Amino acid sequence: MNFKSSLLLAAISAVILGCAPQAAESAQTDKSAAVEKPVETKPAEPAYKLDRTELGNGLYMLVGSGGNIGLSTGSDGAFVIDDQYAKFSKPVLVEINSLSEGPIRFVVNTHYHGDHTGGNEAMNETGALIIAHDNVRARMGVTTENLLWGRATEPTDPKTWPTVTFSQTMTFHFNDQTIDIIHTPTAHTDGDAIIYFREADVLHMGDNFFNGMFPYIDVDAKGSLAGMIKALDTGLMLAGENTKIIPGHGPLSSKADMQLTRDTLATIQSRVKSRIDTGENLQTIIDAKILHDYEHLSSFIDVESMLKITYRSLTGHLE
Ligand SMILES: [Zn+2]
Repeated sequence: MNFKSSLLLAAISAVILGCAPQAAESAQTDKSAAVEKPVETKPAEPAYKLDRTELGNGLYMLVGSGGNIGLSTGSDGAFVIDDQYAKFSKPVLVEINSLSEGPIRFVVNTHYHGDHTGGNEAMNETGALIIAHDNVRARMGVTTENLLWGRATEPTDPKTWPTVTFSQTMTFHFNDQTIDIIHTPTAHTDGDAIIYFREADVLHMGDNFFNGMFPYIDVDAKGSLAGMIKALDTGLMLAGENTKIIPGHGPLSSKADMQLTRDTLATIQSRVKSRIDTGENLQTIIDAKILHDYEHLSSFIDVESMLKITYRSLTGHLE
């Protein structure tokens, strides 16, 4: 998601700024100390790091900055799922090329957000074919208004758009794998896809699955909480007890982890819905602290944002 980087940056800035009042206070009470104090330089942005987990059968999960990458390597070349931000394309390509003897043949985008599609141009330049749901290409070509955060995302360069799109399903036969691409309607967005490698028993859920944290749901792009729960149900039908599941964000997971997330989201939805049904407005629902037992799932989406997203998803209204 484009907003995610700025939110993370905001969170990092908040931590940094959190120290600022103390520094200002001590400067006021002890001027000599403040004068002698060396000039503080702005903290450098943390170096980009790409963690690799081997999943067997030539498959890997790569975790860096942005959505988790899925990678299949083998005699046919590389098959990549999502490619993070444009600014990290170089190290992502270096990593893929160190693992794959052949060229990158296909890149599948799980949805249109920039932390999953930003590397498309660099991938395209290597000769890879970019594939995604019809609505991914459509959304990348227009300005997207985000009413929740009050900001807009400009159209991306046509060089970043998928060149092959699909409406429901696609099947690839690549690296001795049967790879199912399945569209999950109105879930995280209106253009999500989940990808299942049958023989390797590896499932990439895209941002239909945030593991261990509240999810973002792009209601402005026709996503919905109900659709996200349905998408998780689709994933749960495909998965077995030993399936390795790559979430869009968060650590590698099992079917049990995904079931827990699905049940949590269903509980959140039903709690908010029962309040709406009795006529409560958004602020009353927020004040009632009905998600106090899920505080531990707060990350860049905190409890209040989760309630706003759920309320809007259920009513169609911002408040
Ligand atoms: Zn996303």
